[in-house]
Amino acid sequence: MKISILSAIILILFSNTVFAKSLNIYSHRQPYLLKPFLDAYTKKTGVKLNVVYSSKGLAQRLAAEGENSPADLILTVDIARLYRYEDLGLLAQIDSETLKKNIPPYLRSNNNTWFGLSKRTRAIAVSKERMKVGDVLRYEDLADKKLKGKLCSRPGSHVYNRALMASMISALGESEAEKWARGLVSNLAKRPQGNDRSQLKSIYAGECDVAVINHYYYGKLTYSKNPDHRKWAKASIIVFPNQGPDDRGAHINISGGGVVKFSKNKELAINFLEFLVTEEAQTLYGDVNFEYPINNSSKLPPRLKALGKFKEDSLLIEDIAKIAPKAQEIIDKVYW
Ligand code: FE
Repeated sequence: MKISILSAIILILFSNTVFAKSLNIYSHRQPYLLKPFLDAYTKKTGVKLNVVYSSKGLAQRLAAEGENSPADLILTVDIARLYRYEDLGLLAQIDSETLKKNIPPYLRSNNNTWFGLSKRTRAIAVSKERMKVGDVLRYEDLADKKLKGKLCSRPGSHVYNRALMASMISALGESEAEKWARGLVSNLAKRPQGNDRSQLKSIYAGECDVAVINHYYYGKLTYSKNPDHRKWAKASIIVFPNQGPDDRGAHINISGGGVVKFSKNKELAINFLEFLVTEEAQTLYGDVNFEYPINNSSKLPPRLKALGKFKEDSLLIEDIAKIAPKAQEIIDKVYW
């Protein structure tokens, strides 16, 4: 009897040391967006998650640290950033049936290094008051002369617009895409400036009637605690572009992650990525930041459902990263 109590105590002590594990994450995602995921995972597993957050420079840091890096995982938004980690040889190739099953092949690396975890689309905000439904239905419409002086945009070289530009190159070819970008720039009501939120504010203020924004900003402003924000969103409708039956669908980008090549906790790091594609975590992406689940068969939380479903461009997302330098050339050329 005594022996079995003793062995139970030993077992408890042992299991505590087994479960008192931690993972170190390098993140380009803001801490408040990550926290609900970290809390849910820690609650489930007891694993402590430490996050180093920076909006830039993390890939260089990881490269400089090499084998001595404490990092186990990277989390980021935008395919070009993810791709850069792979390009620098900083990610481990991991074999996970769960990740493969839950993430469509065009939204993960074919080397199994990075994995898309949620989706966002570059949508078009259109003034409710000054435009008619159907005036702007496609990205191509942004270059149409009928929008002369009606368009607002953040600078072209922001990753969100650069990725859109890359998708236009892929869809139209280089020279047509350049014409498109020129047309878009000639329609601008003012110099490219601000962030996505401020484009909605500009439409509200009557400075312009149409703008390109990531869809989740519309969701965030619509449900913001700040009444001004809600007014900004209310002044526009959100259009998911290129939805016609034969059209290619809206351009999407991903948030995603990968396991660091020199991680000492690879198995646990993979387990965390696998957690991020569970139904529970996929719903959180919608609840926390109005992002769409990576897998179209996942359920949408009510507020995201209210925003609507859309057909997405199923271009290999990696191509966006590969075309990005060309996209930047055109952006510079047309002064977007
Ligand atoms: Fe954003």
